[in-house]
Amino acid sequence: MSTHTQLFINGAWCDSAAGKTLDVLNPATGETIGTLAHAERADLDLALEAADKGFRSWRKISAYDRAKTMRIAAGLVRERVDLIARTMTAEQGKPVNEAKGEILLAADLIEWFSEEARRTYGRVIPARAEGVYQLVVKEPVGPVAAFSPWNFPINQAVRKISAALAAGCSIILKGPEETPGSCAELVRAFADAGVIAGAINLVFGIPADISSYLIPHPVIRKISFTGSTAVGKQLAALAGLHMKRITMELGGHAPAVIFEDADLDVAAKLLGANKFRNAGQVCVAPTRFLIHKSVYEPFVEKFLKVTGRVQVGNGLDKGISMGPLVRERRVQAMEGFVADAVEKGAEVQTGGSRIGERGFFYAPTVITGAPLDSRIMNEEPFGPLAIMVPFSDFDEAVAEANRLPYGLAAYAYTKSAKTANLIGAAIESGMVSINHHGLALPEVPFGGVKDSGYGSEGGSEAIEAYLNHKFITQAGL
Ligand code: NAD
Repeated sequence: MSTHTQLFINGAWCDSAAGKTLDVLNPATGETIGTLAHAERADLDLALEAADKGFRSWRKISAYDRAKTMRIAAGLVRERVDLIARTMTAEQGKPVNEAKGEILLAADLIEWFSEEARRTYGRVIPARAEGVYQLVVKEPVGPVAAFSPWNFPINQAVRKISAALAAGCSIILKGPEETPGSCAELVRAFADAGVIAGAINLVFGIPADISSYLIPHPVIRKISFTGSTAVGKQLAALAGLHMKRITMELGGHAPAVIFEDADLDVAAKLLGANKFRNAGQVCVAPTRFLIHKSVYEPFVEKFLKVTGRVQVGNGLDKGISMGPLVRERRVQAMEGFVADAVEKGAEVQTGGSRIGERGFFYAPTVITGAPLDSRIMNEEPFGPLAIMVPFSDFDEAVAEANRLPYGLAAYAYTKSAKTANLIGAAIESGMVSINHHGLALPEVPFGGVKDSGYGSEGGSEAIEAYLNHKFITQAGL
């Protein structure tokens, strides 16, 4: 079945003015399964005009009513979960149950932000003179340009759309070209729920052409980007040049510290599930497994057993726990990381190669003995590669955990409350999850530090990025 995904501009689904399209592939087969409309300058101009008008109308709708519409959208997303999940899996590759989980979490996120819409409280500051009222009011920052990637076609987009709409902003989302269909279904849910024309717009095209046009454009007041650190730095520089507010959710290289008193079974099970979820194409995936030398061998053995149980295949098939990588370029990236590590002396304990000729499958891979100068120890793999590294004491583990410029997520396993407190404080990272995997819920902050970016896309912090604080002081006449 071939599908065609359109742009959504000013409340209508449309093709690009020039009629240009791009192919959409199924990564499990490598076959073309559809097309998507490819926006060019004329389409972006229409989207900008729509977002400008949409903002003026949407901001006037009360927070109470915006929240009502958003709750309807959340309901529609839940109702349509099965259909959207199949589209997501066909285009992105993740097992259909993972896709369903992502979609249901998106509904929760929409609801969370709808509730936050009604709590954008300002304040009254005690004045120095009688009859003076000093008010701080929160206002929507303006039309937003957002860029969301293919690894979570809905969940990276929904955080941006929901925060923007809740705050009273309009948004132009550049969705993921590799995985457009499910992202378009998310936008459809908002449109069907009654979000007014122009408040939400969706485009696809050449990412660099779109960002270099939208970011400097005077209509756009706020930028949000999820993707690689290298691209994020370019976009942040451009946004800085044009004095635009920006939120950056970038790459990571998460350390997972396994202390000598850790529950090794729990650690291997939870870390394994999170390493190979979405074939490792997750910015918060554990990558450097730092293991106390006294438990190094038993932990690696347990982790290898967990890895051996991963069922790789087409995400639409029953019993599959890991799908393909999104594109051939990601398989080649894995091959490059592994070849470099092996050349520098590392050993592949399991995996280390692509699977089959059809589609973009790569085996769950465990690597030991990777030297510090191997690429895999320094660059985000964004794939199913786990690196096992022994350490001798707490300070050595912390030094290695903090060695890289990344600082998105970190994990630790220990039965000692003291060690848990110390490691939570010592790690330079936006998020630290200890003895469980507790990240990315709607009500908790989500974001990084250092080269992993800035700003939060979750919790009560997230909506602030879409609000200006205006001070009004008023004296009686
Ligand atoms: P890539 O750098 O080409 O693209 C990454 C994302 O950025 C894509 O969504 C792409 O559309 C977008 N992008 C690229 N150039 C852009 C530009 N000039 N303006 C606006 N958007 C732009 O790499 P890729 O091969 O698609 O993905 C691999 C790398 O990207 C990984 O190594 C990983 O670090 C990073 N990535 C991170 C996330 C995340 O959740 N933080 C998601 C996807 C990809």
